[in-house]
Amino acid sequence: MKNFETQAIRNQTERTQYSEHSTPLYLTSSFVFDDAEDMRASFAEEKQRNLYSRFTNPNTTEFVDKIVAMEGAEAGYAFATGMSAIFSSFAALLNAGDHIVSCRSVFGSTHSMFTKYLPKWNIETSYFKVDEVDRVESLIQENTKILYIETPTNPAVDILDLEVIGNIAKKHNLIFIVDNCFATPYIQQPIKFGADLVIHSATKLIDGQGRVLGGVTVGKSDLIREIYLFARNTGPAMSPFNAWVLSKSLETLAIRVEKHCENALKVAQFLEEHKQVEFVKYPFLKSHPQYHTAKQQMKLGGNIVAFEIKGGLASGRKFLNNIKMCSLSANLGDTRTIVTHPSSTTHGKLSEEERLEVGITNGLVRISVGLENVEDIINDLQQALTA
Ligand SMILES: *Cc1c(COP(=O)(O)O)cnc(C)c1O
Repeated sequence: MKNFETQAIRNQTERTQYSEHSTPLYLTSSFVFDDAEDMRASFAEEKQRNLYSRFTNPNTTEFVDKIVAMEGAEAGYAFATGMSAIFSSFAALLNAGDHIVSCRSVFGSTHSMFTKYLPKWNIETSYFKVDEVDRVESLIQENTKILYIETPTNPAVDILDLEVIGNIAKKHNLIFIVDNCFATPYIQQPIKFGADLVIHSATKLIDGQGRVLGGVTVGKSDLIREIYLFARNTGPAMSPFNAWVLSKSLETLAIRVEKHCENALKVAQFLEEHKQVEFVKYPFLKSHPQYHTAKQQMKLGGNIVAFEIKGGLASGRKFLNNIKMCSLSANLGDTRTIVTHPSSTTHGKLSEEERLEVGITNGLVRISVGLENVEDIINDLQQALTA
């Protein structure tokens, strides 16, 4: 088995008669057959080949094969967005009346899926907080089918113990699904700790340059088969163009993530010393409440730093207004550093109590640390904190 970086670069679609070095873009919606028998056998899945780009395409296959190798999975499927990967995976595996156990701290749209849409099919979700892993077993019911988490969580960068939760899933025969978006497979491979499926929004660090949307689910081949058949018929496929962009992005994932994390640690250390800052949360700072778990399951601390600015809501808004170089944007995992103030923006619709339940205090600022020179990032934060 080749090493991680090599998999990301050398897992490549077979060369065409033109002997190209870098994989071309297969911008085609369908593929042709030699004769009636070829077409019959292909549709009957007696042959493994491309039929139609809603099913597979050489570019999406290359992208998926790389993620499968990087996550240590058996199989996978690529989606148009991270949310279509999440929704399709749940929709493919659940029946009406099934039950989910999930950590409360999940991506906003995932939370809406649990609370607004899955209940339409009588699928309910029970939640535990990040510090209530000892309650997980008591939430499991006879009809529970999926145990779902994100780690690190958004935006408070809490860490959940993958091994502990993986063992609970195994004991109760649940499908353990991990959204590994914040870590990327370079930092953390949840399958090693018992995950059955791993989901990514490829829009974030996998693209890494804020260009295209994408999503992917990888894991056990029997589960992926169900998800593939669901997607093949309902149509959330990734476009070949986006797959081509994202597969190229994976070639530099390791080196980009190394630098993101190096910059993020320096930003976290700078903030920890600053007198306008109440506290800083970064998985690889000793002060992080789950530092030891982070060290056990993550290779690096990630690129997201959260900190509490003194003075609450008003100070958070003022800080954002004083930022000069960094971007105010909803994305993360970009080359450009992005700052957000969740309690007045992404999570503004929640009540203060609901926000506090998921670790979003009034002055919490989230920084997605980019690849600019870290001195320039720190200087911008410094002037905005003192302005
Ligand atoms: C962005 C994000 C998603 C959704 O991905 P899209 O590509 O925007 O649909 C899901 N989970 C996490 C943790 C995310 O950050």
